Amino acid sequence: MDNKPTLLDEDLYLEMLAMPRGTKDLQELFIRTYLNDTRFKRDDYGNLYLNIVNDAYVLSKGPDTAFMCHIDTVHQPSLTEVPVYAQQGIAYTDNTVNCLGADCTTGIFILLTMIENQVPGLYCFFLDEEVGGLGSQWAAENLNWGEYNHAISFDRFGTQSIITHQMNERTASDEFADELAERFFAEGLDYEGDASGVFTDSYSFEGVIHNRTNLSVGYYNQHTNSEIQDLNFLLELCNAVCTISWANLPLGNIEPYCESDSPDFYHDDYFGTGFPLVDDLLDLLNYHADEPIVDDIERGLEFLLQKYSNLDEDDPFYIGKN
Ligand SMILES: [Zn+2]
Repeated sequence: MDNKPTLLDEDLYLEMLAMPRGTKDLQELFIRTYLNDTRFKRDDYGNLYLNIVNDAYVLSKGPDTAFMCHIDTVHQPSLTEVPVYAQQGIAYTDNTVNCLGADCTTGIFILLTMIENQVPGLYCFFLDEEVGGLGSQWAAENLNWGEYNHAISFDRFGTQSIITHQMNERTASDEFADELAERFFAEGLDYEGDASGVFTDSYSFEGVIHNRTNLSVGYYNQHTNSEIQDLNFLLELCNAVCTISWANLPLGNIEPYCESDSPDFYHDDYFGTGFPLVDDLLDLLNYHADEPIVDDIERGLEFLLQKYSNLDEDDPFYIGKN
């Protein structure tokens, strides 16, 4: 039996890319235009949810997996339209704007595809990820997430990452990552656990949801005007996420960060001086220790990420973003 998923039109994806969301108002315009399904519920912050199984809000019996994306983009606030081009399976923009916005339009498109195919789960569309994860942080603090074991963001560059660590802390178990990688492999995708995650919405659910991961969705160079999206990979991924089972993923072990279980590339002896982002990050957090201003920390993070992500990908100090 071959039940092929119904895929959404690529033109819809390209249209969504053309609408930048660098302000609250532009996020609302996008919601009115593309997320106007009456089944969506909104929380008091403004985040949107849809539970396929129960038509419930957040707390529900049923699937234990919450799928996540964010509505905002890092476009200049004044920008109202993004020039979008698609050629030979690649979506891109030009140097009149600061980025394409595949981060996180791709995640939105994937979640809409999963909803279209009635894949069981809770679908979360968060506001304000790019300014410090404000929407998801509000949701983690104010809503009841008792039923959920896995928080899965679709907000990572590349095509292979199942993020197990964010901000140098373990956020998802190896058991979880390995099992999910196997399920993707059966659909022809080559994912694996990746400890180099930085920050995305799922991170906000520390102490609330057991596994908090972020999956590669096929964009590259996010937050720059050379950002591109691999459209063929997007198609393959949409197929896979609607085909694999998300049920009974293992919880596994989430040890707090410790030197001995940290991956090689954090080790001092690997590069001699240690992983630079971690040192700089500690400086940044210490600097703000007395007056933790989220916006300043976010700007500082952005700076660090720019600094390291602009290195060549094979540079040992290279780090991607999201
Ligand atoms: Zn993002």
